[in-house]
Amino acid sequence: MFDLHVHSEYSDGEGSIEEIAKKAKERGLKVIAIADHSVEHPLGLDEGKARKRSRDIEYCQSKYGIRILDAVECGIDAEGRIEKPKHKFELTIASIHETLPKEEYCKRVIKCAKTCEFDVLGHYRSSIFGTYESEVDEMDMEVIDVLVENDIALELNTAHLSPPTEVVEIANGKVVYSIGSDSHTLSRIGDVSWAMKVLNEKVKNWKCILKKLGESF
Ligand SMILES: [Zn+2]
Ligand SMILES: [Zn+2]
Repeated sequence: MFDLHVHSEYSDGEGSIEEIAKKAKERGLKVIAIADHSVEHPLGLDEGKARKRSRDIEYCQSKYGIRILDAVECGIDAEGRIEKPKHKFELTIASIHETLPKEEYCKRVIKCAKTCEFDVLGHYRSSIFGTYESEVDEMDMEVIDVLVENDIALELNTAHLSPPTEVVEIANGKVVYSIGSDSHTLSRIGDVSWAMKVLNEKVKNWKCILKKLGESF
């Protein structure tokens, strides 16, 4: 079991790295990614926080014997760009945190995937940030194609119940998947059962991003 989208108190989450690692271990998780918000967020990581967090991650990784990826979640801006502090992250998630009309939403995602370096598209067509009810159409297909071309994983996010399952159906086995709880509280760490259910029901032989990262779970 794994959970590749957890927020800590280094951004807007409630737990320290140690509390998160302890909870993840108790719940039988083998790999987690602590993906705090980036510089565009008022509580996000800057260079100093990222460095300090890395030391906590390293310490807890050996203390609790689980793999903890040093990750970041960047908000995609109006120009389709992301910004990160100067730091070597092991995993970068890019997500839209605004309610937008679907066309604009997809345009920003496509531009970002074509021009920026990141590993995972976070909560695509989130139920919290609109576009959830829209029909699946050729814009979604274009997003999936661009993800595949640029070796970017599609996240199944259990906090946002995203993407809508119709998107998973059209993406099917083409794309690589990531799975995250997007937990901001200790109680939700490892809460990924909706994502596992969708993948097992909708996608035959789904490809997992952990393979690309060289991790097992
Ligand atoms: Zn997000
Ligand atoms: Zn998040």
